[in-house]
Amino acid sequence: MDIKAQLDLLRKELNEHNYNYYVLDNPTISDFDFDQKLKELEKLELAHPEYFDINSPTQRVGGTVTKNFDTIVHRYRMYSLDNSYSKEDLLDWEQRVQKVLGDVPVEFTCELKYDGASITITYEDGVLVRAVTRGDGVQGDDVTNNIRTIRSVPIRLNGDYPQSFDIRGEIVLPLAGFEKMNQDLIEIGETPYSNPRNTASGSLKLQDSAEVAKRPLDCLLYNIVGSDLGVTTQYESLDKARAWGFKVPTISKLAKNIDEVLEFINYWDIHRHELPYETDGVVIKVNSLHYQDELGYTSKAPRWAIAYKFKAEQAETVLNSISYQVGRTGAITPVANLEPVQLAGTIVKRASLHNADQIAKLDIRVNDSVYVEKGGEIIPKIVGVNLEARPADSERTVYIKECPECGTKLKRNEGEAQHYCSNVYGCPPQIAGRIQHFISRKAMDIDGLGEETVVLLYKNELVENYADLYELKKEDVLGLERMGEKSADNLINGIEASKQIPFERVLYALGIRYVGETVAKKLANHYKTIDALAEAPLMELITVDEIGERIAQSVIDFFSSDVNKEIIARLKEYGLQFVLEEKESTVVSDVLLGQTLVVSGVFEQMSRDEIKQAIEDHGGKVGSSITSKTHYVVAGDKMGPSKLEKANKLGIKILTEAEFIALIQ
Ligand code: AMP
Ligand code: ZN
Repeated sequence: MDIKAQLDLLRKELNEHNYNYYVLDNPTISDFDFDQKLKELEKLELAHPEYFDINSPTQRVGGTVTKNFDTIVHRYRMYSLDNSYSKEDLLDWEQRVQKVLGDVPVEFTCELKYDGASITITYEDGVLVRAVTRGDGVQGDDVTNNIRTIRSVPIRLNGDYPQSFDIRGEIVLPLAGFEKMNQDLIEIGETPYSNPRNTASGSLKLQDSAEVAKRPLDCLLYNIVGSDLGVTTQYESLDKARAWGFKVPTISKLAKNIDEVLEFINYWDIHRHELPYETDGVVIKVNSLHYQDELGYTSKAPRWAIAYKFKAEQAETVLNSISYQVGRTGAITPVANLEPVQLAGTIVKRASLHNADQIAKLDIRVNDSVYVEKGGEIIPKIVGVNLEARPADSERTVYIKECPECGTKLKRNEGEAQHYCSNVYGCPPQIAGRIQHFISRKAMDIDGLGEETVVLLYKNELVENYADLYELKKEDVLGLERMGEKSADNLINGIEASKQIPFERVLYALGIRYVGETVAKKLANHYKTIDALAEAPLMELITVDEIGERIAQSVIDFFSSDVNKEIIARLKEYGLQFVLEEKESTVVSDVLLGQTLVVSGVFEQMSRDEIKQAIEDHGGKVGSSITSKTHYVVAGDKMGPSKLEKANKLGIKILTEAEFIALIQ
């Protein structure tokens, strides 16, 4: 086969796998095999730059930087939708429709209203050529490079697609991905994003498409526009778009009349919370495209469609007080203490107020009657004030000037929303917070020591920093609240055992601002020892993969503090791991490098432990359960049927004992 044919084949194959995984949610090969094929393609492309193709699956990782997005006039205007909030509104709309169309039966398509950022994507000859944001409806920004990185957006279409058309959809950030992004931010002491919709629309305008590629965005399509589309109804066009390779949710319904529309609305008003992404209503469209033409548009919206907005899950209640929390990094978070109120099935007592600007913007005051809403975030938020209910003697909220815990004057950095307490070593929640982070599961994972015990230890002046933990004796802790003989032993043993935790986790545990798990690993692998890292100059740090100036500066600041220097010297003395464990000595080969294998069942020639050891000796990792991250399952006799099913479902390759042995030889 010549190179070009080989490239075409690989690209086609990988596009199909992308489609199976991201659109159908039904992968047919393992992640590992996919990665292998992608690497193969990358290699070929690198060797043959003359065949470069922007539409290749290798380009999904992005890498282009756009300083200014071009303005593009939409081929077909992107209208907005009229809203309705009640059954009556809907019936009124139906009457208006019937009045124009006359006394004919009218069918409706019901779709969910996905809550994200709208987009128009143009395809020519089955290939994605352009993606434009809605903008003002007449013209928007060309964000093609960013949209290409969203794996569920097809780059090439299948089947009998029209030669040229636009398709409209919504870029959403599914809730699980959103939570994960926020978890990662919280972990390094950063402010989390406030909601999935804003984060999705913000993502479209990022300058670096490689950043967009890292975000778990999704694209849900709902409308095709153009001439000669070969369809006569909206419902049919959804089916077609799905067949061409687009992600079109299957929950839409063809309703024979408005009663069936209401059924759909009532059902999804409740069940929408089970969906992986946020929705804020239902969009009802006259099904016949011919009728749509007859109905036409008002100056801002089609007459043939209407949005039914779900009632925002809002409640009104009284704001009793505002308290201020101090985090591990000193960041202040204002919290609203509310008169308890029922909201979306739970009782809400507290709401997030974000920061001083937010309070000022909404002019939120104590004793106000406030509106509370629940969105994608875990903690509800205050979205407004019922000014009519404001007491006459109400006073404007004055944001605190001093730390509520230690009295230090608060600071606010240029361009940052949050106030900070800079009393790093004297402010109780910062002190306890650092120790709590140190012992947490992903850090030192100290058995027998929890967050509350840390607070107890600190209050009893037994510890003031995490180094002090290693000086604790059983008799020190025995007298503490709920601390019996057994728990005291556990605690001391847990602390002792943590001395074996590998360097990269110790580094993460130190709680250097902006140094999360991944960054800690990168730094540990690069510098190998804490001494080398502590001495690294800024210009050198920023050359390390994924380390930018902000992280580098934070590392420098951390190691230049005398307090930290002393703590680290002590930790060294206690025997913590400050040198990267050299695994090379036992590594026999690297055939399994970067791969995770799960071992299951009973084996003949090797014991299960020997197999696990062999995996590590050959550079692989032993996984404890089968996930999409698993590359192989080494299966012996009596492997559980549920495991087998899971492996098959995820398309993970199963190796027999003999196959495994052959692989490592
Ligand atoms: P609005 O922004 O309130 O005027 O509502 C119109 C927007 O709803 C459109 O621009 C789309 O971005 C969005 N939308 C979400 N889901 C759908 C859908 N199924 N059909 C049409 N529009 C939708
Ligand atoms: Zn303080």
